[in-house]
Amino acid sequence: MSRFIFITGGVVSSLGKGIASASLGAILQARGLTINMIKLDPYINVDPGTMSPFQHGEVYVTNDGAETDLDLGHYERFAAITTSKSSNYTTGRIYGNVIAKERKGEYLGATVQVIPHITDQIKQSVLNSTNDADIVLVEIGGTVGDIESLPFMEAIRQLGVELGHDKALFMHLTLVPYIPAAGEIKTKPTQHSVKELRSIGIQPDILLCRAEKAIPEEERKKIALFTNVTLDSVISAVDVDHIYKIPRELHERGLDDIVVKKFGLDVPAADLSDWDAIVDALSHPQYTVNIGFVGKYVEHTDAYKSLMEALAHAGIHTKTKVNIVKIDSDVIEDNNNELLKSLDAILVPGGFGSRGVEGKISAVKYARENRVPYLGICLGMQVAVIEFARNVLGLQQAHSTEFNPKTPEPVIGLITEWKNQDGSVEKRDEKSDLGGSMRLGGQTCKLVPGTVARKSYDGAEEILERHRHRFEFNNNYLDELQKAGLVISGVSVDNELVEMIELADHPWFVACQFHPEFTSQPREGHPLFNSFISAALKHQQESD
Ligand code: GLN
Repeated sequence: MSRFIFITGGVVSSLGKGIASASLGAILQARGLTINMIKLDPYINVDPGTMSPFQHGEVYVTNDGAETDLDLGHYERFAAITTSKSSNYTTGRIYGNVIAKERKGEYLGATVQVIPHITDQIKQSVLNSTNDADIVLVEIGGTVGDIESLPFMEAIRQLGVELGHDKALFMHLTLVPYIPAAGEIKTKPTQHSVKELRSIGIQPDILLCRAEKAIPEEERKKIALFTNVTLDSVISAVDVDHIYKIPRELHERGLDDIVVKKFGLDVPAADLSDWDAIVDALSHPQYTVNIGFVGKYVEHTDAYKSLMEALAHAGIHTKTKVNIVKIDSDVIEDNNNELLKSLDAILVPGGFGSRGVEGKISAVKYARENRVPYLGICLGMQVAVIEFARNVLGLQQAHSTEFNPKTPEPVIGLITEWKNQDGSVEKRDEKSDLGGSMRLGGQTCKLVPGTVARKSYDGAEEILERHRHRFEFNNNYLDELQKAGLVISGVSVDNELVEMIELADHPWFVACQFHPEFTSQPREGHPLFNSFISAALKHQQESD
């Protein structure tokens, strides 16, 4: 049977609980254990699909098509697991399931209540989502004391009792701030946070204390005394300059040892050579490239978390420091391309809404005409098709019906009906609910021989990449666009949907309808991003 680690947070939010959890997953994996990770999110949205990424960070898409919290991206990148619909439960989803059961009469006349019905539903969801892993890490979003998180806290408290001490462990992440005026670090917020946790019946086994520098033994003793946690389990989680240093850092402080000891597991020592190699590559790049990142709200890097990571991974695998030059697409709306001149490559990421679209189209035009490597992702492919239709084919009003529903030349449009890979038929129209009307999740793409795309993916005939979009390439324009020189380099299995395009007489101009960033991992990097960064390097060397 699986063992469980429940991870809660206190004092303030944004302490990096997701990354700390994922790093613990990584070091347990490095000891030969199989792991699984689950995120419980106390907000009421059924999933983050309709939440603004500029408030909540990126919507991470799983292979089975769930729109989830960005922490699942950390889990996949650190712990090399494949997350799914059963890796993320929100209050909305839990209540939705309980209410559906109530309507079916499954509670046999009982008064349906938070305890036991909601808490039972949470416990069942966790216990059904273990994937039979040796260790299941369950992260609870928010901070202790939030009203919304109470049912989740109560559910994990009950699970702790039911599973027993040798099967369940509680880890609490807090902040130990340094107060410059006093010249001291302060343990009081941590004491209070644990007091709050204990008041709802949870005694933490491990405290992970975020701090600028290692917390001196005296202060750790004080925390241990006030919180009833053993001294060796009060661990400093020291600020580091790169997230991929965290697994080694936590290992050096003994975190994996404490866990395996508490669970009584006899496992080999941690092999962290992968992580050391990643950190070594990050610390000693041989080259630097400047990648223009053209979008709206580009300053909100959390909204593009996986993409930023994918570019960093490509840097690791090409010995290159990848500098992201953020360019607000509104600023280049008037064809003013000064900002684009010093770039080694241009990337237009995914996006929704019409603001800034013309600027993105201008950036594509610049990349095409000046032979600057270009990677277009999702919306980045759609604007590449629009640009080509307008400026090469001469369809001056070419657009996506997302931005101009009345365009006479809808080169990108809404597909109202399509077949999923399992054969099921999905339908949507302009009035469909925003939540749940998108093409979502992993789908196979066939790569066309002789294309840059096929070469980038090391000659693979087929690839599996994740989607999240409503609009598609309009096949009514396929012949015309191809005759004008647009190359279709990837199509869906039934040949009905264009998944990748490129330009024949351009050194590296590739765009895809899917989001390759969701499957990029630091250990291997991602073939398309590795190829893109290599093209940027080549462009730089040739322009020198
Ligand atoms: N807005 C576009 C669509 O819905 C692109 C979405 C995206 O880039 N993820 O098709």
